[in-house]
Amino acid sequence: MLSVIIPSYNEEGNIAKTASVISKLLDSENIDYELIFINDGSTDKSWELISALARSDERITGINFSRNFGKESAIFAGLEAAKGDCCVLMDCDRQFPPEVMIEMYHIWQNNDVDVVEGKKRSRGNESILYKGFSKLFYKLIGSSSGLDMQDASDFKLLDRAAVDALNAMPERLTFFRAMSSWVGFKTETVFFDVADREVGESKWTLTNLIKFAINNITSFTSAPMQLVTVFGVITFLISLILGAHTLVMKIMGNSAAGFPTVIILQLLTSSIIMFSLGIIGYYLSKIYEEIKQRPRYIIRDIAKKQTKTTEKKDMTDDEE
Ligand code: UDP
Ligand code: MG
Repeated sequence: MLSVIIPSYNEEGNIAKTASVISKLLDSENIDYELIFINDGSTDKSWELISALARSDERITGINFSRNFGKESAIFAGLEAAKGDCCVLMDCDRQFPPEVMIEMYHIWQNNDVDVVEGKKRSRGNESILYKGFSKLFYKLIGSSSGLDMQDASDFKLLDRAAVDALNAMPERLTFFRAMSSWVGFKTETVFFDVADREVGESKWTLTNLIKFAINNITSFTSAPMQLVTVFGVITFLISLILGAHTLVMKIMGNSAAGFPTVIILQLLTSSIIMFSLGIIGYYLSKIYEEIKQRPRYIIRDIAKKQTKTTEKKDMTDDEE
């Protein structure tokens, strides 16, 4: 069975169509499936639509978060709820072409592979700035973690073994795209073209993206910490040269005119120190967030076609 995980945040215009497009396609291919919609704290009618669908079709499950926890949390909620022999991640806006999902399924079925990852051949109507930015981001993550992340996407099909491996990872700050590469397994790649969004708009803003990038770089690699050491080495070398120069001048009886040099050095070193403190502080805050061990998400209710349609699920944190 194939579990299709669909994170949805304010997607009222997309849910019905996405469900019917995917169901029809999978039916026509005779693939046994379940659809798992995760309502990530939408403020529109998304949950009404999802729960109605889930109540009318036993192959659809709806999971309702207590608030917006972000796509990453929604993905992991889906992975935990999935019962399939393999899972595929889909966006609710159908920007990941559903036909490619079928292609992925056949690759998984006919070959001895555990992960089929979708790579973006083209990126739809993204701006040049955005494209450059994302290239730099994946270069940074890729080169520091040794994973090939260029053009990576969340569009992936994972075998049960890989899903279990991901579910067993305890961290709270997750980055699905990189974690699903990190777990390894036999991976095959398919290329796809990102479709344009038909209904609604992208949830990303520039500040969101920058936060996302910093968050993921710091939670995935410690390379910026090493930058602090590099700064230290560089300033040490400069200080050796300048120090020797100053001493020689002093011995020769014409010591350097003081103030400009002192001011420049002060400014330079203090900015390097504060910059480094900032980097270290960022990692500290990550540790702080992880160590609190809060759940990745809180489920308010689950909708499923049963005698009891909607069951309230209590997931209170024991520490609170
Ligand atoms: N999404 C989500 N929670 C969020 C933001 C987005 O579950 O906080 C979902 C959204 O409903 C969509 C998918 O993640 O199904 C991708 O979002 P979007 O289309 O905004 O991103 P883009 O395609 O522009 O990268
Ligand atoms: Mg999208």
